[in-house]
Amino acid sequence: MGQEVTGRSVPAVHSETDHQSSALPGEAALELSLEIAELLTPATEFGSLLQLAAERVRARCHVEAVSLYLLDPAQDALQARAHAGSGHPHLGANGDWTPTDKAGILGQAIRERQSLTEEIVSHRASSLLRRSQVVTELSIAVPLEIHEHAIGLLHLRSRSSTDGEPGSLRILQAVGRHLAAVIEQAQRSERELQQRQLIENLNVIGRTLAQTLDPERVLEMILMHLATIVAYDRGAIMLQEGSELIMRAIRGFPAYASPLRIRVPIRTDDVYQTICRTRQPLVIADISKRPDWQHVDGLPPAQSWLGVPLLVEEEVIGMMSLARERPEPYTEEEVALSLSFAQQASVALNNARLYDSLTQVNATLKQAVSQLQQQSYDLQVAYEQLKRLDKAKTDFITVASHELRTPLTVLSGYGQMLAADVELANDAFRGQVIRGLLTGANRLNTIVDNMLDMARIDSQTLEVHPEPMFPAVLIKAIYPTLKQILRERRITMNLDKSLSGLPLIEADTTGIRKVFRHLMVNAIKYTPDGGSVRIWGRALAPNDTVLGQAAVEIVVSDTGIGIDPVVQDLIFAKFYQSGQVAIHSSGETTFKGGGPGLGLAISRGIVEAHGGRIWAESPGHDEERFPGSDFHVVLPLRPDKVLASGR
Ligand code: ADP
Repeated sequence: MGQEVTGRSVPAVHSETDHQSSALPGEAALELSLEIAELLTPATEFGSLLQLAAERVRARCHVEAVSLYLLDPAQDALQARAHAGSGHPHLGANGDWTPTDKAGILGQAIRERQSLTEEIVSHRASSLLRRSQVVTELSIAVPLEIHEHAIGLLHLRSRSSTDGEPGSLRILQAVGRHLAAVIEQAQRSERELQQRQLIENLNVIGRTLAQTLDPERVLEMILMHLATIVAYDRGAIMLQEGSELIMRAIRGFPAYASPLRIRVPIRTDDVYQTICRTRQPLVIADISKRPDWQHVDGLPPAQSWLGVPLLVEEEVIGMMSLARERPEPYTEEEVALSLSFAQQASVALNNARLYDSLTQVNATLKQAVSQLQQQSYDLQVAYEQLKRLDKAKTDFITVASHELRTPLTVLSGYGQMLAADVELANDAFRGQVIRGLLTGANRLNTIVDNMLDMARIDSQTLEVHPEPMFPAVLIKAIYPTLKQILRERRITMNLDKSLSGLPLIEADTTGIRKVFRHLMVNAIKYTPDGGSVRIWGRALAPNDTVLGQAAVEIVVSDTGIGIDPVVQDLIFAKFYQSGQVAIHSSGETTFKGGGPGLGLAISRGIVEAHGGRIWAESPGHDEERFPGSDFHVVLPLRPDKVLASGR
């Protein structure tokens, strides 16, 4: 409109109390108040409310222009927020708040909370008549007052001098108070709306957090929701990786800047280090003045900046960076809001970190499990193979011993026939040959017997025929068969008195005889010449823990080479031998003379078939000091468990 204010302003300040008349009739004032009150609806946005209020005031007061200013306590400045009527110098083109000089009647009206007027004489250029025109206007400043402080100001420009009269000013003052109350109420509603919005945003983020383990998605969502509450031009969530900050999520960055690839080196005492040290948000009003600020090439320069730490277990892992290109520092409220969003970002990042390590643990576990499965499969295969081999061996033993039995019987029979021949027996040489033949056949018989016993134990077909017997009697009956060897080896065998005190038991005499003969022969075999063997026993009470029932315990104790604790159980496995298999001596009782390694395995089979137990005890193997061994046999008084006979 080509309006230019060039004139002088005449400071003709009047106070409202000076005169009594009014240009805004009381009725119109009432209607204005009503109109202003009606603006308070949930649908009216705060900015539009201010604009509508300015327009209503202008319409009712019939003035040239009405501007509405709000006081910004943070900056201690008036901000133009709405304008109705002819041109206004203080309202930016994009509707931004523009700080206004608080000098003049605007400042004075605010300070004194008084409606004030002044006359402004201006020269206005008229394009049609090409001459200057003198315009006299009234400038009226009306404070928006509530609870005895001004929250802003209404500024009216009027050509009617009556508007400056005290009566009008008083009515305008009342309108100002009413408008202030409406504005305050609207601000409160807006704050409540913001709070609700904040809670809703945080809820959405919380729900997303619970539903996704993709941190980038959550971080972008955090920046997006934060933007609806805290204004910023560029936002980034940055994570520390070593000595650099990596951008994990961004908002508001120009596409060409591709900041996701940007790494910002961390420098001594830069903004990030300050945040790390204080673990508090950092507000910088003008970042361009900070020498430590690292401007990223290609980005428009930032002015106001807010950095919020991302804390995980009290440790700063990165920061949220919010930049504004205009000089509008972040308020305390904005900092607090950003902090709540940053906390959510920390949770998202920590969740992702935990998930990562969980996935790693899972992968390691999976690998370990598949290794274990493979090992267990290999073991199973090996076990099956061993079982097959063992069965093949048992089958072989059964077949071989049966096959040996027939020729052996023939051999023994002929041997005995030859031995019965008096003529041959009297011939020293032939007699010796025949006796050797018979001894060999007997030994072979015993070995075949043992092999058959073992095969029966393996196939669980060992027959047990319990009958009443005194263990002492049985052991004493074996003794004479060993007398000759004991003499040769100069070994004393002591059958302890305790044996005679043992109660009557029920057991398979043949089997139990084999057990004690094995043990007594072994005791001689593994004891050096001149040593001793002692056999003793005791009765075990029904509550004894060995079998959990009444039993007898018989111990064959020697002063021999002893047994290494490591093999004390292994020696009961079939074919176990301590020495080399190849060193098999011919003599059954020669010192350390090897045998087939079946004696103890058969003994255990027979004892266990009675429901008893057999085990060895020894301080260890020592062929110089001869610590000796004890072989314990525990048999129940009555076997309640007898292996089923398959034949
Ligand atoms: P064999 O005597 O035929 O080798 P056994 O089954 O009778 O087989 O014994 C197995 C192994 O147990 C023997 O080779 C020996 O190492 C050990 N052993 C058995 N009795 C004794 C003992 N009284 N003292 C030391 N070692 C023994």
